[in-house]
Amino acid sequence: MRGILGSFLILYIFCARAGVAAEISYELLFEFSTGTNGWHLEGRATVTGRAPAATDELVFRFFQGDNAPVTIWSVKEGDRDLPWDSVDPTAVVVFLSREEGQSFSVTFSYAIEVPPFPGGGYGTLAAGEGTVVVAQAYPVIVPWREGWVVEPVFDWGDASVADVANYVVEIELPPGWEAVATGVEEELASGAVYVRGDNLREFAFVLLAGHAVATTEASGTVVRSWFFPGHRHAGERALQLAGQALELYGELFGENPFPELDVVEVPLRKAAGVEFPGLLLAGEEYYRRYEEGRRELLFPMIFAHEVAHQWWYAQVGNDQVREPWVDEALATYTSGFTLATQGRFGELIEFWDRTYELAHMRNPEATPFDPLWKFPDGEGYGGIVYSGGALFFLDLEAAMGKEKLVSALRRYLAERRWEIATGADLVRILMEASGGEIEGVIETWRRGGRP
Ligand SMILES: [Zn+2]
Repeated sequence: MRGILGSFLILYIFCARAGVAAEISYELLFEFSTGTNGWHLEGRATVTGRAPAATDELVFRFFQGDNAPVTIWSVKEGDRDLPWDSVDPTAVVVFLSREEGQSFSVTFSYAIEVPPFPGGGYGTLAAGEGTVVVAQAYPVIVPWREGWVVEPVFDWGDASVADVANYVVEIELPPGWEAVATGVEEELASGAVYVRGDNLREFAFVLLAGHAVATTEASGTVVRSWFFPGHRHAGERALQLAGQALELYGELFGENPFPELDVVEVPLRKAAGVEFPGLLLAGEEYYRRYEEGRRELLFPMIFAHEVAHQWWYAQVGNDQVREPWVDEALATYTSGFTLATQGRFGELIEFWDRTYELAHMRNPEATPFDPLWKFPDGEGYGGIVYSGGALFFLDLEAAMGKEKLVSALRRYLAERRWEIATGADLVRILMEASGGEIEGVIETWRRGGRP
């Protein structure tokens, strides 16, 4: 393995002086080799932070451990080997005693066999034809809320629950491949890619061989759309849609703080799009259908929704397992502002109505505010949490007025940016902004009804 730890050190000093919000730092090194067994990843991850409380253990997650088994070679602090225990394929406890506020710096050496697409989940750690998606392929230190937050991992929904952190990353590439990542990429003379990103909720990247790219700029953000060369119309439309959404949400809620947004066409399973900070994945089948001349609502919905996650999830985080509605309902509702500018708001509401009613019939017990485990096998999850959640926000809008609702969301962003918010935080701000006028709407939806 070759490293760039010297330059990491310089960057750390720079980051500290810049006064950024994140208190956790990751130095990551990824090396790939391809063999008869597919893609093999060798990783080194140094996680630096301060103990949130007096503790005898630190808890790390390999959120995709069920999809792609991880082999841990060593866990060290400096030269000292640390004892650790793998509780299940997705969680590692490292035994290290710290007082509150005391710093730690833990380095993992590990390997992951990247499965062929689809792998598990949405296919976000999987090697396809000309694409290798590499998300959550490193140990993430879990947040602390009166204890380490360790949620169960499911095959549906988003598993990651994480604090924002500053990242410096080096990705060693096989010849002929390039990397597109969360953060800002820079190609090194060696052919490796160096990436840096501040206040990232997590780090993910895609290796590409042969994708075409189109670029634009939106409100100071460089937007790039990466697509299969045969899908140029769809790829250029994706660029335009993402740029428009970025500008609109910036005006509505507050500026997008990330310098880049990469939109990448990849194969996905059971999801039309997936969001990371500064990086969106969009499913290739939707590009293919766009090229066939179909003008399906789902295509613009992908970009309107995933760009909204740059606010709700990337900036204001939440526990995506326990309270997925906090980002998903909000991102879905927010996507309506973009679809309205395209004259497709009526179609969108029809879609929300239809998918919510269908899901409600299939899983009548669940409400939009429920955790992932209330949707066994994902049954009714999208229809209830996304569509139902968006309808819930539309009802709030009807009760308190759009202006007050948007201004409450601006306040929510300003107060909770870079933190992990709860549903209670969001509801409190909405209640205050409405002067209590939305209490009936909230109660009805909580009981599983619809006003
Ligand atoms: Zn979403």
